[in-house]
Amino acid sequence: MKKKSNAAPPAAPGLFGELPAAAPAPAQKSGLLSFSYSKLSLYEECPLKYKFKYLDKIKEEPKFYFAFGSAIHSALEFLYSVKAPPFPSIEEVCEAFRREWTAKSYLEKGYRTQQKSDDDYQKGLLMLRAYYEHNRARLAPPFLVEYSTDVEADGLLVRIIADKIEYLGEGRLLITDYKTGKDVKRQPSQLYMYQKIAELDPRLKEKIAEQYGQKVSSVRIGRMLYYHVPTNKEYSFERADDKEIGSFWERVLGVAESIRGLKFDPTPGEMQCKWCDYKALCPHFFGGQPHPDPAAAQAAAGEKIETLVDRYGRLKERMDELQAQLSEVAESIGRAAKDGGEYSGAEYSLKVKKNPKWEFKDREAVISVLNQFDLYQRALSLTLTGITGVLDSADIPDDARKKLLEQAVKKTAVDIKIVKKVY
Ligand code: SF4
Repeated sequence: MKKKSNAAPPAAPGLFGELPAAAPAPAQKSGLLSFSYSKLSLYEECPLKYKFKYLDKIKEEPKFYFAFGSAIHSALEFLYSVKAPPFPSIEEVCEAFRREWTAKSYLEKGYRTQQKSDDDYQKGLLMLRAYYEHNRARLAPPFLVEYSTDVEADGLLVRIIADKIEYLGEGRLLITDYKTGKDVKRQPSQLYMYQKIAELDPRLKEKIAEQYGQKVSSVRIGRMLYYHVPTNKEYSFERADDKEIGSFWERVLGVAESIRGLKFDPTPGEMQCKWCDYKALCPHFFGGQPHPDPAAAQAAAGEKIETLVDRYGRLKERMDELQAQLSEVAESIGRAAKDGGEYSGAEYSLKVKKNPKWEFKDREAVISVLNQFDLYQRALSLTLTGITGVLDSADIPDDARKKLLEQAVKKTAVDIKIVKKVY
């Protein structure tokens, strides 16, 4: 399912290795340009940002507000995916939310700390409970939930994904789009895209015939609404008239034309640049000139040492957090893999090897035993390898071995080699 959210909290700066070369051709399917409302709004925000994301396919850092919106959407999808009552209980809806929430770690969701992730989890549960209570009396199986369709229009292949569609009879539809971010005044342009594409979509007529036994000559939007889940407020819009849709579509075709013409000049602005993950690649950000080496460009731009200090600190913090998670997962793999072997997930496969290893509790005590039995020189160095070398020697006195073993703990070293599957 696609997930949406409309808050705009800050994003951490990006980690990028290299500046992409010349723009590749925009993704096209059978000569059609793939398009969506998200693409339209991103291009309008900054064409270069669009290029980085959709043409160069450089991943943005995960955003916690998308993860939050996504989990709420999943829970509501679960609630409405029934063909007939009874509906799932609120506990079951919360469980669907929990499943989605726990599928990723807090870092994968884009949170800086586990605590912030836990706080949002609790916020999500309260939100769903309030939604359920508010809508309990009018729960009805919708026509479609999370309906995704691709429709050809004027050389574009336009994708819409509607959260919920209800059938009002005689080919008329009510489309609902859930919002989980801030409660701000929203323009209806996203709804115009739903209207334009839904009314052109032949599959909807077929689905109406299948589900309601009605043969309709056309599908028309009756009403559309943004539903703000955190406050349970509805922002309802009547079907837009032809003039409104016409001028919206002109806007879409204008953007599509610019994408086809590979027009990707940056349009810097305080807000879009502040939240942009591509700053490290952006010529604007580096003083106006594209630079083949972002690191050198950064230095050339004379970025303040104070900024670099904070950036370094943030990256180090994230690296430590990731390292801690990696160790935790490796330990779990070690436990699950018992004697080692090869294992396969959907995307990766790995080999686990287990080898015994010694660890010594008290360094001073080990030195004292080595000195006592005149073995210090044989250890060569006071590294783990040096000391275990002495311990493994056949010719050391039994007492020395016994005393060294008293300081030693035998553990298992887990060696994991992982490869990404290629299909
Ligand atoms: S930093 Fe600003 S100008 Fe550069 S790509 Fe991002 S949004 Fe566009």
